Amino acid sequence: MRIAVGGIEHETCGFAVPARPADATTLMSVARHVRYGEELRSLGDANTIVDGFVRGVRETGHELVPLLWIDANTSSPVTRESLDRAVEDLLERLRKALPVDGVLLSLHGSFAAQGVDDADGEVLARVRELVGPNIPVMAVHDLHCNLSTVMAQAANVMVVERTYPHIDMAERAVHAARIMARTVTGEVRPTMAVRYLPLLWSAARMIDAEPPMSDAVQMLRALDQRPGVLSSSIGVGYQWIDNPTVGASVIVVTENDEALAERYADELAKWVWDRRSQWRRDPLTPSAAIAQGEQLGKYPIVLAEQGDNTGGGASGDATEILRLFIEQKLVPSAVLYMVDPDVAAQAVAAGAGAEIDVLLGGKSQPLVGPPVPMRVRVHAVSNGRFTYDGPMWAGVVGELGPSAWLEQDGVHVAVVSGRHQPVDLAFCRSLGLDCRQMRYLAVKSTGHFRSGFGPIAGSIFNVDTASALVHDFRRLPYTRLGRSMYPIDMDVRWEPSTTVGASDE
Ligand SMILES: [Zn+2]
Repeated sequence: MRIAVGGIEHETCGFAVPARPADATTLMSVARHVRYGEELRSLGDANTIVDGFVRGVRETGHELVPLLWIDANTSSPVTRESLDRAVEDLLERLRKALPVDGVLLSLHGSFAAQGVDDADGEVLARVRELVGPNIPVMAVHDLHCNLSTVMAQAANVMVVERTYPHIDMAERAVHAARIMARTVTGEVRPTMAVRYLPLLWSAARMIDAEPPMSDAVQMLRALDQRPGVLSSSIGVGYQWIDNPTVGASVIVVTENDEALAERYADELAKWVWDRRSQWRRDPLTPSAAIAQGEQLGKYPIVLAEQGDNTGGGASGDATEILRLFIEQKLVPSAVLYMVDPDVAAQAVAAGAGAEIDVLLGGKSQPLVGPPVPMRVRVHAVSNGRFTYDGPMWAGVVGELGPSAWLEQDGVHVAVVSGRHQPVDLAFCRSLGLDCRQMRYLAVKSTGHFRSGFGPIAGSIFNVDTASALVHDFRRLPYTRLGRSMYPIDMDVRWEPSTTVGASDE
């Protein structure tokens, strides 16, 4: 059987300052992986959803029909034209490949373009329109997906990642490919039920390695074992955009039993909703986190600066923690990574060994705090090219642009030019900076840093600073959610909801 494989992946941040003029952000301007047609055949080994599809289709002995894969970094909404071009390209390749027996798509699940709240829904609906009602279309989404009714109606099966950091991207894709293989051969007829919860989930409570998120993964594994269940998922949502699909959701897929899928989806949704206070975390300041860490006495103390998480679309130049390290003489310490192309260029020009005066960070917008005047030693400079080696992105090549390792009196900073979050230790090691020697580490990341920093951390605290992606949901300028959401409204009542999303598209 012929299984088409493709992906258009973008997590769209509505609250970050665009890296370039708003009308110029295109999928291609923020893309990190782009593969066309036959190029997809070389995939299969890395931890991405499309690699997992390729591996899964091969393992199940079916014919791979490669379409295209565009995997982009989180950014502000892309232009409508850019969305259309990518979708047209995908559809054209699919049209030429017809007939196919099934379509596997990697879609982030919180992709929006200018004027389009639910770009993933649009991709799925247009693929459905092209292949007709009888060809199975299945999608795998990021854990941070805002699912919609349009998506659920167009797809036969949706599967969501379970881990944060997302070390199961390929695994979940193989899972979907196996369901696809059983579907195209007529062995199963998947039936899906989806529920949407008025719930904004705190990122610090999504880490699957620890409770309460580990309980949620346990719940899903138990559900998978029940007779008749093919797949189950929880989407925790992506909160930094103002549109009606924002929120958590659950999915249950059964073998040809609609009533069972509906019943289990209600049960899973209720399970999540009943625990809503567990998915909430009150803000924590860096000083309070340091105090807690010193009391614990386990080093390095890692501060995860979730509000300036470059992986989530933040600018990566908030200065509150850098100032705290300097003023409180918290050393040896390192701030990873400060996004400041000007200072990176200045350091590269001066060269390793030089001593220079810099105004570091604080340049994207007033919210992130003022630049910090420092007299630093340039320990090393780099073009920013390296290979990740932690479990999340092992083997993936990173391009951080002109970069430098700077130090002032025991406070170290890795300065980079591109907006990328620290995921593992490989980049710092490439500069010669040994993070294991630090007593305090600040990472501009919410969860993915655990891929490499988890094993060396003494203690970890997700902290809230003056930065764009605040986790205090009451401070986010929502106007279009279209429903009351917990915990902005602590008393919100929830009835099992089977629909969500904009109707005005
Ligand atoms: Zn994610």
